[in-house]
Amino acid sequence: MTKRIIYGPILSRRLGRSLGIDVIKTPDTKKNCNFDCVYCQLGHVSKKITGNAKLKGAVSTEEVVEGIRSYRRNIDNLDYITFSGTCEPTLNPLLGEMIKGIRKISTHPVCVITNSSLVGSEEVRESLAEADLVVATLVSGYEESFRAINRPAEDIRLENIINGLKELKRMEKLQKLGIEIMLVDATIDFPVNHTEKEIERLKEVLIAIDPDEIEILTVSRPPAEDYIVPVPEERLRQVALEFEKEFGKERVKLVLKGVKRSRSVMKHGNIEEEVYDLILRRPCTFKQISASLGIDKKELKPIIIDLISSKKIKETIICKDKYYRISTK
Ligand code: SF4
Repeated sequence: MTKRIIYGPILSRRLGRSLGIDVIKTPDTKKNCNFDCVYCQLGHVSKKITGNAKLKGAVSTEEVVEGIRSYRRNIDNLDYITFSGTCEPTLNPLLGEMIKGIRKISTHPVCVITNSSLVGSEEVRESLAEADLVVATLVSGYEESFRAINRPAEDIRLENIINGLKELKRMEKLQKLGIEIMLVDATIDFPVNHTEKEIERLKEVLIAIDPDEIEILTVSRPPAEDYIVPVPEERLRQVALEFEKEFGKERVKLVLKGVKRSRSVMKHGNIEEEVYDLILRRPCTFKQISASLGIDKKELKPIIIDLISSKKIKETIICKDKYYRISTK
C-alpha cells in the first residue's frame, strides 16, 4: 500500500473537516523532518533533514493541483485543505506555488501546519503568507528547552524562529497566524515546559509575536519517547487562564482530548486505504478512526483485523488505551 499525497477528508479537533496534503511521496513509513520531537506521534526520525539538503521525493506543484482536481470524492463542505502529513511542509520549496495553484481550482481555505523551523527565511515566510491560516508550533522561549523538546537539526536556532514569526505576523498578505503551544510532562528528570518560568517566558515571546490565535494543547497520542506524558488537565486549565488574562479569551483556545465535532456523512472510496492513510499520519484508537473518517464501527472492525494480519499496522498500548500505528517492519 503506497502513501497518497492527498488524503482524507478527516475530522480533527482543530480544523474541522480537512483534506490533507503531504509534500513528499516516499518512502511510505518514514517521517521526513528537521526536528525529532520527543512528543512526535510518528516515532523517531533516523536522519534529520538539514536546511540545505534537497528533499528526496518532493511532490511537484502539478501533482498537488492535479491531485486536488481529480480527488474522487465529494469535498464540497471542507473546512480546510491542509498541508501537514509525514513531512514538514516548508521543507518543500514549492509550497507557495502549490497554494497559488490550489487557489486557481478551489475556493476552500488553505491551512499550513508548520513546526516553525524555517520561518526565519524570507522565502519560506513568502510561501506561508499565501495560506489563509498558518498554524506554527512553539514549545518554549528558551533555547535549551526548545533543543531538548524539539531536538532540531543542528543549524536551527530558536532566536531565528521567534524573529521569523514576528516578521510573518507583520506581513500584510498574511491572513491569520495561530501559534500552537505543545506542553509536555515527563516521568523522568526532563526540562518540561509547563513550569511558571517557562510559561512566563512563553507569554513574553507571544506578546512580541502577537498571533491571532493561541492554542494550548498536550500530548494526546503515543509519543516518540515513552517518558513523555500529557500535562494534567488541571494544569492546562491554569495555563489557559493565565494566557486568557494576557491575550483575551477570544484569542486563546485550550484543546483537550477527543474529536469535538459530530460525525458527518462522508463518501468513501477505498476504505482500507483511507484507514491506512490516517494511521500513517497519526496513531489512532479505534474510536478515533471511526470518528475521524466517519466509518461505522461494524464496518471498521474487519478492516483493522485485515491490516493487522497483513502486518501493515500494529497495536500499541499507551496509558491503557489501545492505539493502532504503522508497522515499520
Ligand atoms: S512532531 Fe512534527 S515537527 Fe516534531 S518531529 Fe514529528 S513531524 Fe517533525
